[in-house]
Amino acid sequence: MFNAVLIDKSDSGQVAGLSRIDTSQLPPGDVLVDVAWSTLNYKDALAITGASPVVRSFPMVPGIDFAGVVAESSNPGFKPGDRVLLNGWGVGEKHWGGLAERACVSGDWLVPLPEGISLRQAMAIGTAGYTAMLCVIALEHSGVTPESGEIVVTGAVGGVGSIATMLLAARGYKVAAVTGRPAEADYLTSLGASSIIDRAELSQPGRPLAKERWAGGIDVAGGVVLANVLAAMRYRGAVAACGLAGGMELPTTVAPFILRGVSLTGIDSVMCPKPERTIAWQRLAQELDIAKLEGMTTEVELADVVSTAPKFLEGQVRGRNLVPVNPL
Ligand code: NAP
Repeated sequence: MFNAVLIDKSDSGQVAGLSRIDTSQLPPGDVLVDVAWSTLNYKDALAITGASPVVRSFPMVPGIDFAGVVAESSNPGFKPGDRVLLNGWGVGEKHWGGLAERACVSGDWLVPLPEGISLRQAMAIGTAGYTAMLCVIALEHSGVTPESGEIVVTGAVGGVGSIATMLLAARGYKVAAVTGRPAEADYLTSLGASSIIDRAELSQPGRPLAKERWAGGIDVAGGVVLANVLAAMRYRGAVAACGLAGGMELPTTVAPFILRGVSLTGIDSVMCPKPERTIAWQRLAQELDIAKLEGMTTEVELADVVSTAPKFLEGQVRGRNLVPVNPL
């Protein structure tokens, strides 16, 4: 028997808590992993609180990512003792996830731990950091370079935004960090932001086209914030959109696209093909300042995961929340 966070649903609603489960209860898969570290992401908070229909079947072990050591494998790609990580693929949504001491998954979903980082560091990066890297790569593919001009990052104090800010600054980009928490300006500057913008400035519906400000953008907010970011892109600017922290809708017009040649790229980390995720992880291991990453990381015990989840929905989280499951 081992510890797991379990979400269940009954006629009286959804409940989540720490449970003891047996390996025989785990879903089918060809690799059994002893989870060392997991994390809490915005999506895990939606799943645990039930604020959004993230969980597709009950009971469910949440946790969209984990890092650990292979215990058993019938997959030719992995053997006991291998250090692996996992992000997405519906884990924690429709297949039992990483907020448990053991996970049984398809080996096709696993990425070998990149050289140069520990299991703990891999999860300090987590799905947030991996998504941030996919966004940076998307901007590069759109031709946005440090010479193009300043890049705007929304939700900058959160997990994706913090790591996006760090990655861009390390590559020589000037970063305008948008936050609803201007009191965190020093934190954002320490990550490499060159200017801080109060989110309130972008929270009211604006004109279809605004003054050209930014050469690129990484957006976790969606909603009016993303519409205002698009309206303020420079000619041929590019925005990578990955989140909905500010809303699901996108109240924009075609003006930025057809009059300024702005492009909007959607980023999905969950089903991203393995070659692209492997490249993203290799680049994270090489490019991220691990000491700075440590400074933005908070540990949350498995037993405290359920009580911590609502903080994400209240916008109270800074950087990354790491869960020591069976720390190695
Ligand atoms: P997080 O750590 O909770 O950060 C979210 C940040 O969004 C908050 O810290 C806050 O930053 C900002 N925010 C909160 N409420 C907002 C509002 N009403 N309007 C605008 N901004 C608001 O979450 P995360 O893990 O970084 O994830 C961020 C978003 O990306 C979530 O929507 C998540 O679901 C999504 N995501 C998507 C993928 C994908 O594959 N597409 C992968 C990972 C995450 P400030 O306080 O600085 O404003």
